[in-house]
Parts: sequence; C-alpha cells; structure tokens
Amino acid sequence: MAATKSRGRMAKNRGTKLEPVSVVTGGAGFLGSHLVDRLLAEGHRVVAIDNLVTGSVENIDHLAGCRNFRFIQQDVTEFLFLHGRVDYVWHFASPASPIDYLELPIQTLKVGSLGTHKALGLAKHKGARFLLASTSEVYGDPLVHPQTEEYWGNVNPVGPRGCYDESKRFAEALTMSYQREHRMETRIVRIFNTYGPRMRMRDGRVVPAFVSQALAGKPVTVFGDGSQTRSFCYCSDLIDGIYRLMMSDEPLPVNIGNPQELTMVEFARAIIAATRSKSKLVFRPLPQDDPKQRRPDISRAKRLLKWSPAVSLEDGLSRTIEYFRSKVFQASV
Ligand code: UDP
Repeated sequence: MAATKSRGRMAKNRGTKLEPVSVVTGGAGFLGSHLVDRLLAEGHRVVAIDNLVTGSVENIDHLAGCRNFRFIQQDVTEFLFLHGRVDYVWHFASPASPIDYLELPIQTLKVGSLGTHKALGLAKHKGARFLLASTSEVYGDPLVHPQTEEYWGNVNPVGPRGCYDESKRFAEALTMSYQREHRMETRIVRIFNTYGPRMRMRDGRVVPAFVSQALAGKPVTVFGDGSQTRSFCYCSDLIDGIYRLMMSDEPLPVNIGNPQELTMVEFARAIIAATRSKSKLVFRPLPQDDPKQRRPDISRAKRLLKWSPAVSLEDGLSRTIEYFRSKVFQASV
C-alpha cells in the first residue's frame, strides 16, 4: 500500500528528525495556497512557486515570517532549481478560470506541458513523489454522466477551451509516462468545480460572479438558459481529498469533487437566498463548448481514500459569502 510506503517515508524523516519537504507550484493561487496551509499544519516545510499571473501574494501574506515556508516568484515553465531534499511535488500552477485561460491560451498550454515537464523533472531529480492537479475538464462536454475516471471524455481540441483541456490531458499523459518509464511515484487528481475564500472576485467563474453580483444587488448573469449543471465542492474538502491521494498508493487518476449537482438557475437562486439579495436573474449567451452537465462519480475516492465531502453547500456558501463581503468592505474603505 502507498499508505504504508508514505508512512515509511515519514518514519525515515522522523528518525532523522526532519520534516517532510513539499514544493507547491501555483502556491499563491486559490487552491495552491489552501494546500500550502494544510501542509504547514501537517508539519511539512513548504516551498511555494508562483509567477503571480493569476495567483496573488495576498493569499500567502499571512505566512510572512513562518519558519517553514518559503516563496519563490518564478514561472514553472522555466528550469526549477532547488537546493536540498524534496519529498513531495504538488503541481498546481495553471490559469483555471475560463476567462483566464481564454485570455492566456498559450501560457495555459505552456504551463500544462512545459511546466508539468519541469515539475516532473524536479520530482525525478529529488526522488520525490509527484501529484498533478488535473481537472474534470479532461472529460470535456461529457456524454457519460456522472463522470467516472474510466471515461475518456468529449473534448473539442480546437475550440476555445481546448487550450486548458488539452494541456491537462497532455499533463496526465506525461505524468503517466514518467510513472511508467522512470518508475516514479505519481498521483493524478481530477478536480471538479471548487469554491471558497481566496477566489478572485473578478475571475469570471460562477461563484465569484454570482456572489459579487448578489451582494451588490446587481442582476445575476446566468449563461444560456441556466439548465447546465455543475457540482460544487468546498475548498477544505477538496484539499483533504488531495492530501489523502498523495499519501495513498493510487497511481491512476482519482476524481475529487462534491456530487451534489445543481443547474445554474438553481445555483443562482441559492446564492440570492444565502446573501438575502433582491437581485434578479438575467440571461446571457452561453460560452462556446460550455459543458452541459458535470458531476463526479466519487466511488474510487470513497473506496481508495476513505474520502467524501463533509461541508454542506449551505455552510460552504456562507463562509464564501463572508469572505467576499469582507473584500467588498475592504475595497470600500
Ligand atoms: N456561468 C454563468 N454565469 C456567470 C459565470 C458562469 O451562468 O456569470 C456558468 C457557466 O456558463 C458554466 C457554469 O456557470 O455553465 C460554471 O462556470 P465556471 O466558469 O465557474 O466554470 P466551468 O465549470 O465552466 O469551468
């Protein structure tokens, strides 16, 4: 079992009184920074690498002065050099919001391909275990519902979302090739829609968009007829699943997400109710290739990692709304 292997890894470290060392690419991003917090809480020494294109130092400034934390501002498509031991490489760097990757298609393809190559190369050189943050977008506009890990997907490679979907599909293929050819220990998580504090207010994704519109009493912009579905996982649940995956023995991709599925109209109404807003819905054109349905099948995560989400949509939304309220307040003073 990998759980046994990772206990061995920790025991070796404990024997020599050394904390595990983790490198997190994209460590100043929404999910990367939550992962950094979790790793520090688990007793890791953490090096976060981020070029701050979509990440922000605000997400990590509470760690200033923390003895076990180091930040390097660097583009991970360039050669990564680090002194000393590394036990785990967590590759989270990438634009992840549709408007970001539509604006930065080449950088998105580069970080998924060249960046994954560099991060794998670092892990190989250090003998570290590697985890790729992949995505439900590898399933494209899925024809199988809910999505199991065995499904190969329905992706338009030449459409506007292709830059993200194909870069992550390439990243998965590269990770599996390093596992097979170099016998590296690798893990792949397919992350479904996730939300929580530290999402950028204007990152264009549906949670910041709906919450900020509802808080401002502005119309809530539903794309298409709002019948498309998504399933939203609170960030702490997601990070817990990913941490368990890294420490497990599972070499194949694992979906991590919350299977509670809502249409975008239902979701908009839930946010309007949770913010006690008077906002009305307005309908805007559906972006090209917007997936019609998405819900993870999490049987593998349940079985292999003993993981399932614990935070209800109600609790997660209230924490997220609190965060955005404080941002609006800060911006107004
Ligand atoms: N969406 C919406 N209004 C917005 C932003 C997004 O209706 O202001 C829809 C979008 O078309 C998609 C869903 O919400 O169907 C989730 O979009 P998001 O950009 O958060 O992520 P995706 O799951 O598409 O990657």
